[in-house]
Amino acid sequence: MKTKIVYSEKCLGYGTWHIEGPQRVKIAHDILKAKGYGFVEPKPANDEEIFSVHDADYVFNVKKGLAEDSDTPAYQNIYEFARLSVGGALLASRINGFCLMRPPGHHAGRSGAALGSSTRGFCYLNNIAIAVKESGKRTLILDIDGHHGNGTQEIFQGDEKVSYVSLHQSPNYPGTGNFTEGNCINFTLPSNSGGRQYLETLDKALGMVNLAKFEAVAVSAGFDTHQGDLASLGLLDKDYFEIGKRVAQLKKPAFFVLEGGYVGEKVGLDIDSFLSGFEENVKV
Ligand SMILES: [Zn+2]
Repeated sequence: MKTKIVYSEKCLGYGTWHIEGPQRVKIAHDILKAKGYGFVEPKPANDEEIFSVHDADYVFNVKKGLAEDSDTPAYQNIYEFARLSVGGALLASRINGFCLMRPPGHHAGRSGAALGSSTRGFCYLNNIAIAVKESGKRTLILDIDGHHGNGTQEIFQGDEKVSYVSLHQSPNYPGTGNFTEGNCINFTLPSNSGGRQYLETLDKALGMVNLAKFEAVAVSAGFDTHQGDLASLGLLDKDYFEIGKRVAQLKKPAFFVLEGGYVGEKVGLDIDSFLSGFEENVKV
């Protein structure tokens, strides 16, 4: 059975000039639609859900357009876009779907920029972190975006219910995640290291996790590791199939939340490849 895609075209309504722009998601949506995926519409998250992760002062600043940095503009009504994206992650968690929404979230910490980063890296609210908190489940978060999810690490560092595993390019933004700290398992890879090294590293990282402890898997699904993208690890469509297969082999209910990936055509094909690898190997 095909994984449902959580999507609202409302997420296309801001930031046309930015690299984190609407086309990346619109084109991916069109590709997945043509491939026969079914879509469901999310509702915006409410303040209570958002406060489970973020400080009230920070949320107030996002609402009022007062939180701005060189990567992450204070667009008009950005809070409405951000809370709909959170709502997408919440729905994906409930139906084991794939949230194809923007803005992304994994760089957003409790009160904005995380772990000493100077910016929030196109993120406003941490979609996946809020979905994991709200589920109340013991969750393994696997972050396959090419950048370290410093916000997610900050939020869950030391949390006994959650382990965070990230593979990311180094050196690159945000410069964090250079070593493993407790429940946060980090592996860095050099630019364009290629699929083989990536998958070997992923197997090693997942081998460090006590799977019996977890009830669910949440994937921060970024595709900027694709060859030529912003944090290229030289990955191709077929590598995402293999990553999806490994997620299926964890044998836990899983959901997926889009992070980066800036070339819409590639994002769409990579998501299809990833979900095909997952679906063909999942035992229901
Ligand atoms: Zn990224």
